[in-house]
Amino acid sequence: RATLGVLGGGQLGRMFVHAAQRLGYFTAVLEPDAQSPAGRVSHHHIRTDYNDPAGLAQLAQLCQAITTEFENVPAQALQTLALTRPVAPGAAVVGIAQNRIEEKALFAACADLSGVSCAPYAVIETPAQLQAVQNDRPDLLPGILKTTRLGYDGKGQVRVKTAIELAAAWAELGSAACVLEKMLPLTAECSVLVARGWDGQVVSFAPQRNVHVDGILAVTHAYEGNMPPDLANRAREAAVSLAQHIGYVGVLCVEFFVVDDGSEHGGLVVNEMAPRPHNSGHYTLDACDVSQFDLQVRAMAGLPLPPPRQHSPAIMLNLLGEVWFDGSGQLREPDWPSVLSLPGTHLHLYGKLHARAGRKMGHLTITGPDVARVKTVARRAADLLGLPGLDDI
Ligand code: ATP
Ligand code: MG
Ligand code: MG
Repeated sequence: RATLGVLGGGQLGRMFVHAAQRLGYFTAVLEPDAQSPAGRVSHHHIRTDYNDPAGLAQLAQLCQAITTEFENVPAQALQTLALTRPVAPGAAVVGIAQNRIEEKALFAACADLSGVSCAPYAVIETPAQLQAVQNDRPDLLPGILKTTRLGYDGKGQVRVKTAIELAAAWAELGSAACVLEKMLPLTAECSVLVARGWDGQVVSFAPQRNVHVDGILAVTHAYEGNMPPDLANRAREAAVSLAQHIGYVGVLCVEFFVVDDGSEHGGLVVNEMAPRPHNSGHYTLDACDVSQFDLQVRAMAGLPLPPPRQHSPAIMLNLLGEVWFDGSGQLREPDWPSVLSLPGTHLHLYGKLHARAGRKMGHLTITGPDVARVKTVARRAADLLGLPGLDDI
């Protein structure tokens, strides 16, 4: 059978490898870290830097098609690979998703088509732009200053209330290229997964509602009634129209805010996109007949994309490094037997050797015959593991 390649060796790559292997593919992972979650389960592990020409040539030589799992993979590497092999998603869209200024410009350009805009914002790349925002854009405060590049899990972001705090925050971020976004009154957050093939065929999952704690995804609610149906439909349509507009190939995740705008269900605002399978879509592994990783494999391999069907309501709980430490800061193995004795629990551990606070070590998906039972088990599991983010259920 053919070999599928992935740039990056994290947990998204690992779950991609598992899905590819199930369909009978060999896999090749290019990742410098010897102990990476994906490298350790792949048939081939090319242990070089993402930019290394020899490593990229070896990956291209081995693989029928190549994808990426890593937020900050050099777009240039994708471009190099694309000279000789199908690469999905493409370098251009990955480059846009890595740059908040370009990403927001894309969202603004798509606003008429998708019916959804992004938060009011201003670009701050120079002292003159900082001054201009301080003088002329009081409407953006309080706001969040976000670095244009390399931010994830809320890193590279500072919340600011005043023009003085804004100047201090910009200095704190190294006077790097930033965007200042107006702080919006969020009532909820959700995301939509879309998969699109080379032939333009598009399928999508219903939106999942996400709860973040300290800027990191903590809980995903995936079941009917997780959000008002009119908002869910609009988010889904907006994500699909965006994928079509940019000619995307592969799995795309679009994050949305639900904002209190005085209307009955609130307004929808697009936040950002991830050009890959997404943490908020991990529930699809256990709750759907085709997972986000199955669709990524199919899309890049040119196989059919059936509309996914969710067969169970689900809640996903992220397992960060904190779970591996007791109250006095000692490392310990969490009480998996107690968790796994609860009905409908699916434990996924990524094989990372060292737990650190905030590090994504695994996730737990709870499925069940109805939403009430899924919520009850999720609460029990969260209590056992000391997980946050379930107060509202
Ligand atoms: P990810 O890991 O999802 O890529 P990120 O570091 O790129 O995260 P964002 O998605 O921009 O960060 O923001 C992280 C979280 O901060 C959001 O999920 C939301 O909870 C909050 N947040 C971000 N921007 C705003 C805003 N304009 N108004 C209110 N809350 C916001
Ligand atoms: Mg992001
Ligand atoms: Mg985000």
